Amino acid sequence: MRRTIALLLRFFGLLKFDRLAGFASEYPSTADALEGDVVVVRDGDVEKWACLTCPGGCGKMIALSLNPTRRPKWQVTLDLWNRPTLKPSVHQLNECGCHFWIINGNIDWCPGGRPSERRSAC
Ligand SMILES: [Zn+2]
Repeated sequence: MRRTIALLLRFFGLLKFDRLAGFASEYPSTADALEGDVVVVRDGDVEKWACLTCPGGCGKMIALSLNPTRRPKWQVTLDLWNRPTLKPSVHQLNECGCHFWIINGNIDWCPGGRPSERRSAC
């Protein structure tokens, strides 16, 4: 329900976000399963992974470990509308190479971190 309201508010320009958070109990099998969300995989109360499709256009699934004992590790927090904030930033080390933050559900590109910017700069 809250999700529907958030989508409506975005439609009317009252709320800004690129991604909302969803939850799953199992690791998503494909990037398609994410449906554009940041999917938090949790086992009981333990948050294990934050999964999202790369916003850089390659469409690959990015899985970020939320396990506090592993490195690298990320923290995900959700606001009232389930808009996720991820810390620290995400830096893809594949050919896509995108580098961004997700803050309140919005993709915030680091300077030079958006693949299309790099291509046009060549
Ligand atoms: Zn990518």
